[in-house]
Amino acid sequence: MQVPLLDLTKQYAALRAEIEPAVLELMASQQFILGPKVAEFECALAGYCGARYAVGVSSGTDALLIALMAEGVGAGDEVITSPYTFFATAGSIARLGARPVFVDIDPGTFNLRADRVEAAITPRTKAIMPVHLFGQLADMDPLLEMARRRGVAVIEDAAQAIGAEHQGRRAGAIGDYGCFSFFPSKNLGGFGDGGAVTTNDETRYRRLVRLRNHGMEPKYFHGEIGGNFRLDALQAIVLHIKLRHLEAWHAARARNAERYARLFREAGLLHKGIVRLPQAATDHPVWNQYVIRAARRDELMAHLKTTGIGCEIYYPVPLHLQKCLAYLGYTEGAFPEAERAARETLALPIYPELTEAQQSAVVDAIAAFYRP
Ligand SMILES: *Cc1c(COP(=O)(O)O)cnc(C)c1O
Repeated sequence: MQVPLLDLTKQYAALRAEIEPAVLELMASQQFILGPKVAEFECALAGYCGARYAVGVSSGTDALLIALMAEGVGAGDEVITSPYTFFATAGSIARLGARPVFVDIDPGTFNLRADRVEAAITPRTKAIMPVHLFGQLADMDPLLEMARRRGVAVIEDAAQAIGAEHQGRRAGAIGDYGCFSFFPSKNLGGFGDGGAVTTNDETRYRRLVRLRNHGMEPKYFHGEIGGNFRLDALQAIVLHIKLRHLEAWHAARARNAERYARLFREAGLLHKGIVRLPQAATDHPVWNQYVIRAARRDELMAHLKTTGIGCEIYYPVPLHLQKCLAYLGYTEGAFPEAERAARETLALPIYPELTEAQQSAVVDAIAAFYRP
């Protein structure tokens, strides 16, 4: 049985009748840039996240970049973040001439170790950028407390965690900014690139809106240098329709996570730590990825690929060891948990339309690999 890591064609088949007329209508209107469709989606997104404002932007990467710009981050500044995340998190910091300062992760959640962050704060620290990796919230309370006390901003990289909730608060509405990605493989994915920044602060919101459009206000008057970070109306239409289905998809992902836990237990794979399953530390994680730790991970991955089971390593090289960030001066061993995660983890299919038979095939293939 073939089990892809992600199959978006199933989702599209279910939504086609809703999406196609709306897209055709947009094409007839020829109003592609910003406008009412983007504003309507922003309003719905802010409501969903429990934030006061949302600003649609061109990608998750640009969401991070524009949040940093709105906070005035630039040359000589430092931003504390995780070394175990997608490159964009640190890349956006470095692109502004600021220095990404890494702190190791918690091996249980793969997220920033909050108790190690304070020691990394210096007079140059402008922001802390926790990542809600794989759909679980970072340990926000201690981060917020020290950020307030030390006068630095908190920018959530919520690209993988839209809708993730802990103690009644949702990703993106907890810190000063929440950055979302609508890359097609995210839980809310567009028909191309897209992103958004949420905030509860009106001054920050207004600055984000200006920066997204060349710092322009009013038309052709530029008070500061921004960029073209606009979200297309086409993406807004698709995302707005999909947003209404997001809770049902999250419920299906949670059901799939529970099924894996049962199937792995029944297969007897959890003994001796051959396979370790992800543990939910968030009240409602959204399972953007279901990431296990596995003995002989690379061999297991090769075996699964030949069996037709989709899987992927997120991420094989921690950011402090990326070639383009070598100038930061970090060496191997600097962040042992991030490095261990890069060696041990493997993401398995978890998308909402996955069937129980497909999940059994995944677990059977893994059991076959470890059978003596
Ligand atoms: C996907 C992702 C991004 C970047 O989003 P794009 O829309 O692809 O630019 C940033 N951070 C994390 C953690 C991501 O998973």
